Amino acid sequence: MIGGVDIGGTKIAVGVVDQQGHILAKKECPTEVPRGFDHAMRQVAALLVQCVEQSEGKLRGIGIGCAGPVDRVTGTLGNVNNLVGWQGGNPLEVLAREFGVPAAMENDADAAALGELYWGGGGKKTRFLYVTIGTGIGVSVILDGKVYRGVDGCHPEIGHHILDASGPCCSCGVRGCWESLAAGPAMVAWLRENAPAAYDNRHLSAREICARAEDSDEWARRAVDREAYYLGLGLANLITLFAPETIVLGGSVMKSAHLFLERMHEVIRQNCRLVPAHRVEISLASLGADAGLIGAAQVWQHRFERGGG
Ligand SMILES: [Zn+2]
Repeated sequence: MIGGVDIGGTKIAVGVVDQQGHILAKKECPTEVPRGFDHAMRQVAALLVQCVEQSEGKLRGIGIGCAGPVDRVTGTLGNVNNLVGWQGGNPLEVLAREFGVPAAMENDADAAALGELYWGGGGKKTRFLYVTIGTGIGVSVILDGKVYRGVDGCHPEIGHHILDASGPCCSCGVRGCWESLAAGPAMVAWLRENAPAAYDNRHLSAREICARAEDSDEWARRAVDREAYYLGLGLANLITLFAPETIVLGGSVMKSAHLFLERMHEVIRQNCRLVPAHRVEISLASLGADAGLIGAAQVWQHRFERGGG
């Protein structure tokens, strides 16, 4: 069995899966970023021990998916936006040493993409993009079964391609990135800025806005329409650039996908003229809430058993 550790800014999911990606045991804990990297690793190790005991098998290795930027080869964390103060920490080293097994790590979007491709019915597509839309936007490009790497093995930051240079400031320091226009917080920010003063701004979140839109709230509907437009525009760019076989959409915002899909497809049709966009299959992620954890375990299998680089 394979251990999986999915490290995000809010929570860390830990578990063990079998060779087919079925979860045998799982636990989670809040990330508690201010308590530091070492504290988090102690929590992770304790939870993984519990999962291993519970599933009564032998741990062969540990796969890790982590919010980026990370150095997937050395395992060192970069300056991660929502893991402030953890830079230089190395989950790969800590967990491999602690459990005495080989470990492998990827950026969390690449991890989720590998899980979806090999264990989520991706059907071993050769030109495969995975897009996760939640607090941020992450994209993984998988070509011929291998994760596409940039220079020095870096993960390309497609969620930060610029759609509107006069758009809102992004967390990365640039204006009008796809993430600043179409991630969950962008819906909230737009509604706060544009709705009339009398509009009830309390407890706004992407999920709440989607719920209000279904309740025929006019301003929430506008926010949803704008979200669908920018989702479609970013995807149209990806289709023009890669003309992939398949794009799989995941992440928390996509839990309300039914609100966006029609408009999103319309925007894609309008903006993709030179590639066979109608042949690109766009589907929703099938691994659901455990996609990050299952994907993390697949990172290990991909590296050590499939010979993935
Ligand atoms: Zn950005």
